[in-house]
Formats: sequence, structure tokens, C-alpha cells
Amino acid sequence: MEFKNDVELDLTNEEVKHNLSQAFKRVSLEMGQKIPFVINGKKIYKDETKDSVNPADKKEVVGKLSLATQSDIDQAIKSCQQAFADWKFVSVSKRNEIAENLVKLIQQNRYELIAWIVTESGKNISEADGEISELVDFIHSYMIGADELKSGLDYLIPSSVEDREARYLPLGVGVAIAPWNFPASILGGMVMGPVLAGNAMLMKPSNDTGVVGYKLFELMESAGFPDGLINFVTGENEEIGDYVVSHPQIRFINFTGSMSVGLHINQLAAVTQLGQKWIKRVVTEMGGKNAIIVDSDADLDKAATGIVQSAFLMQGQKCSAGSRLIVLNSVYDKLIDKIKAKMKKLSNKPAYENGDIGPVIAQRAFDKIKSYIDYGKNDSQNNTLLEGGNYDESTGWFIEPTLFEVTEKSKIFHEEIFGPVLGALKVDTYEKALSLANDTIYGLTGAVYSNNESHIQEAIDKFYVGNLYFNRKTTGAVVYQHPFGGFNMSGTDCKTGTTNYVQQFLELQSVTRSY
Ligand code: GLU
Repeated sequence: MEFKNDVELDLTNEEVKHNLSQAFKRVSLEMGQKIPFVINGKKIYKDETKDSVNPADKKEVVGKLSLATQSDIDQAIKSCQQAFADWKFVSVSKRNEIAENLVKLIQQNRYELIAWIVTESGKNISEADGEISELVDFIHSYMIGADELKSGLDYLIPSSVEDREARYLPLGVGVAIAPWNFPASILGGMVMGPVLAGNAMLMKPSNDTGVVGYKLFELMESAGFPDGLINFVTGENEEIGDYVVSHPQIRFINFTGSMSVGLHINQLAAVTQLGQKWIKRVVTEMGGKNAIIVDSDADLDKAATGIVQSAFLMQGQKCSAGSRLIVLNSVYDKLIDKIKAKMKKLSNKPAYENGDIGPVIAQRAFDKIKSYIDYGKNDSQNNTLLEGGNYDESTGWFIEPTLFEVTEKSKIFHEEIFGPVLGALKVDTYEKALSLANDTIYGLTGAVYSNNESHIQEAIDKFYVGNLYFNRKTTGAVVYQHPFGGFNMSGTDCKTGTTNYVQQFLELQSVTRSY
């Protein structure tokens, strides 16, 4: 199978616009319903529910998520085990056939999915459409990955007295614990990677975006994945989060989210439970505090565009977001003026009209981001507000894109805020810029705007991040173009959209037959 990136919608096309507005109408009629969790093909509705709300309008309930209990998780794991017993023997070509059905269903339901994503996560239409393309690309890349790995190692030394084979086997039952910022593509990729490798999965979306998760799950069911192979579970993290990670029958955990939760999961998974037969594998994709360096000879217009996109689109809620700006003294003032001018132009139209800036995901995010802005305003020794700084939670959780000039001591320069707040720092030398860029526990993305070949080479040698970009924004990695994943506290560098990703969910067995 040859890989081709999915083509995004042309949002200026009249038919596309019409289809989108129809989809938004249908979604608004369907909103507010009870959403079940699903075990072994059985929909389970609970009286106990949790509202998922529209972050642009908190009063609007997008869906009521049924809350699973620990005994529901036991059932879900059991059902996954049963499904795994058959699925592990299903051929890669059959698995991939079902995955291709899923891709077709995603395309057929593309407009609806976009409307649900926009409504439940607050991102705009372009971002939501890009997410659908990424989801399709993830699925295709994992189909290819599974196919590439199916014949095992091809370099064993042949022998006339014995047959030798080293083949990949799936691990068993895993859980995907997914984030809300890419509620379809990351969740879908985190489930499909392991499933196409032959595993069974508990699919746990974020409670902030459980409706999108369910819509995607429904398509997986219709595509033909057998009942119980993927069980969709929603619930309070206090009730089921630790429980599922610690469960002795869970073989691996595939997590994307914050560093603190990822480290907690890693620690919990390391404790051997009664009856547990394996060392759990933990695959994580966590946070970032990504730096953008602007050199003295950089194209400043290009840099300003990339910086504003990296820091503020999707309200800065990407782990790849550029949140530290390190600028050479000689171009600092000029660059800041350009950034401020571009920030003023960011449109405030609603997400469903594809405005540039939408709400942040939830109250806790709003409060956290607000506290950093307040800190910045109050600690004037280390922070100077250059642009933005306002927030408003009267209808939804809105925070203005905000730019601070900071010192090296500012918290804004060091801590992941996961919101539209950028700290800019002036430096005298390029060496200093590079050493500050590496002065973090994270290592996800980084960008350098420079035309100086030796500086570019120096960054290649020293800038330690999983995704290093030159003269380009830090966000928007595309499958098969920019394999995505971070170093250090940003995760286990399980580059998404690659064969290597699929391999994370396999183990190698050596089979030798002597004559
Ligand atoms: N892959 C996305 C990007 O390159 C970011 C994913 C994330 O935020 O988790 O922008």
C-alpha cells in the first residue's frame, strides 16, 4: 500500500460551506443526549452521568457521559481478553480491510465529525478538518506499519539444519487514555495503532470530549471490528483512572496528556499486582515547553507568522505549541512589533465560523492560564505585558492571546501553561539562545528561524528535541512528513504515524525448528 496524505476540505468552496452548516444544524439537534459506554457491543446507559459542555458556551450540554464503575472496567477487560483470543490470529490483511472500512466511514461522516469536534473542544473548523485528515493518515500509516512488521526479522542467518524465524506477536489487552485537544485523531490513532498490531483495547476518551470519542467509536463498530475488541469506556478518573492502569490484566498503557498524569501512570504501572504476569509497557506522549529561537539574520515576517501560529492557534493548547520565544537583541524590537501587529489581526469570530481564536477547554484550564497571566501582571520584575492579557468567562472560557516580555526567572518562561500565553526573552548571543532553549525538562518541539548555516548546524547538533524545525512553526506535524514525539519529560518518543509506533505494541518471538 502506498501512503498518501489525506486532502483537507476546501473551506472556501460553497458546497463544502453548505455541507458544514447542515452538519452543525444536525449536531445542534442531537446535542445533550445521554452517551453510553460500550462493552462487548452492548450499550450501557447509567443514571450517573457527567456533562460534557461546549467550552464556547458553558450552558450548552454537548452530551451526558455514562460513568463506568470499577466492576464495569472488570467486564470490559474480560471482554477484551475474549476478543483478543481470536483477533490475534486474524491476518493483517483482514485487519487492514476493516481499518479501510473505517477510513471510508470517517470520510462519509467528515462534516458531522468536524461539527462535533468544534462544538465539544472549541477548536475552529480548519483545525477540526486538519484533525480528520490526521486521523485518516494515522490509520493508513498503522496499516502500513502492521503490514511491514508481519514477516518479522528478515536478517536471521540461514541454516541447513534448522529453520529460524523471529516474528512479532501482539501484547494483549491495553488501554488508550487520550487527551481532549485532538479528540478524534489522537484518540483514534492511540487505539488503531495497537489494534492493527493485533491487540484489544479499552478506549478511554477525555471526559471533556467524550461525545466525539463516542462518535468515532460508533464508526469503528460499523467498520466491522468484532464486538469486545474495542470497548468504549467513560468515567470519573478517580473511580476508573488508577484502577484501569493498575489492573493486573492490563498489559500496556498508551497515554497522551500532561506530564504529571503521565508520570503518575508510569509509577502506578510499575507496581506489580497480585496475579500479574508481565511488566506493563507504558507508552507516553506528554507535555512540552517548546522554544522558538529567532536569529539576527532571520526573515522576521516569516518568523512572526510562525510564532503567532505556534503560540496562539487552538489557543495554544497543543503540546507542540511554541511558548518560549528567544530572540537575538538586534532584531528583538522589530520582531515584537510584527508579532503584536499579527496578534491584533487574529479574528474573534466563533469557532463554527472558523474564527482564529476560540475558548480554552474547561474551567480548570481557564483558571490555570488566568493564574499565569495574573502572575505575569503582578511580578513586574520578571514580566512585562506586551499584548493581550484579558480574559472573560461570562459565556465560555475565553482568554486573549497574550504576550509577555520575560526574564530567565519568570515562571512563564519555564512552566507549561497549555494556553495562549507566550513569553519573549532577549539574548545577546546565539549560544545563549541555544542553551536557554535546552534549559527545560521537556524535549518535544523546537524551532529556529535563521539563515546562518553554521548556526543551523549548531542547532542540529545541540537543540535536543524530538521535532526540530527550521524556519517553520513548531506545530502542525504531518504524518509521513514529520514523525511526531518527544524526548525527556515529553514522553517515550513513540513517534506517531510510523511503523515504530506500531512496534511499541508488539513483542518479538524467536521460533527455531531443528531437523
Ligand atoms: N501533533 C500535533 C502537532 O504537531 C500536536 C499534538 C499534541 O498536541 O498532542 O502540532
